[in-house]
Amino acid sequence: VILVLNAGSSSVKFAVFEPGADGAVPSRVAGGIAEGLPDRPVLSVRRGSVDTRSIPLGENCVQPEAIGRILDWVRGEPALAALSAVGHRVVHGGGEFGEPVRVDDRILERLESFVSLAPLHQPHNLAAIRAVGSADAAIPQFACFDTAFHATMPALHRELPVPAAWRARGVRRYGFHGLSYEWVASRLPDELGEKAHGRVVVAHLGNGASVCGMTQLRSVRTSMGMTALDGLVMGTRPGALDVGVALFAMETMGLQPRELARALYNDCGLLGLSGVSNDVRTLLASDDPRCAFALDFFCERAAQEIAATAVALGGIDALVFTAGIGENSPPVRSSIVRRLAWLGLKLDPDRNAANSRELQASDSTIPIRIVATDEETVIASAVARQLRR
Ligand code: AMP
Repeated sequence: VILVLNAGSSSVKFAVFEPGADGAVPSRVAGGIAEGLPDRPVLSVRRGSVDTRSIPLGENCVQPEAIGRILDWVRGEPALAALSAVGHRVVHGGGEFGEPVRVDDRILERLESFVSLAPLHQPHNLAAIRAVGSADAAIPQFACFDTAFHATMPALHRELPVPAAWRARGVRRYGFHGLSYEWVASRLPDELGEKAHGRVVVAHLGNGASVCGMTQLRSVRTSMGMTALDGLVMGTRPGALDVGVALFAMETMGLQPRELARALYNDCGLLGLSGVSNDVRTLLASDDPRCAFALDFFCERAAQEIAATAVALGGIDALVFTAGIGENSPPVRSSIVRRLAWLGLKLDPDRNAANSRELQASDSTIPIRIVATDEETVIASAVARQLRR
């Protein structure tokens, strides 16, 4: 039995898998989330796909305690008690980790050195590894990286135009959402047949958002950069931004680096543009013109990045939407694809409205698909592979 943890600042998502026989994809048998940490903590658990129940957590429940309770619950369930390994989603593997890795003290120290590259996520990911280690020092733990899928990007799409001395210190494009892209890539042959190996652009549109261009199911170009701030407009992050804006905020508005980082990660994007919300459902339901403007801006930037990715690939053979917004929001998809009609992309309005798997119009030759992402299964599969080795 493999436990997969995805630990954030106020929540810990988990999923429990039984490994498939002879290398088959592991199957998800339970899962849940501890959320509202630390002030309003609740642990919701699920066996199979139904049967949800809530387990109260004590007041001021911090992340290590929540993880301890998750481990207790898993081990208390007779069918899950044979827990043999834990897999973690870790956002940044730097330039070093292009594969999942078994974590020991030395590896943990290396992963610490990437905290400044992903200050919003990496500290919580690593705290979760430590929390499991304190609860059970013997259980093997594996880190699976959101950057790893992009290790195949060529220099043209990896390097950034900065001085050589900066590049020597690791300033380059790493890219993120790699676990999601790896899942989508694994589904593409079934979804697209031969075209799967061609020029495919995948748009991961969630609270964090990016696009990835693939050929031969490998990453060629992605919109996120050294950090997860680059590229598309996101819920609370600006995406690509004139760096002069950051200089202005520091020199003229007097923001300290820490304040600037907080503003860039938490106050920009859809929230900054609308002044109302980072949640696309709230923006769609509102009649405030600022909300419509924020959505329009989001779609324009997404279309621009898809087009830029098509340039990197030399064309586009298929477009795939995934993640919360990509899988569930017909108006956002239609606003993006409308802007890409000149590339030959066209949606069928009824299929789009129904969130169908196949979305392209019958008179269009370029497939447009929804593939529901599943980062946890990618992590469980990687852990199962490592255990077999
Ligand atoms: P994720 O980060 O993948 O969990 O996606 C979160 C984003 O998906 C939020 O902005 C949500 O508003 C958006 N989302 C989830 N469900 C829907 C829906 N039915 N319609 C529009 N947006 C949605």
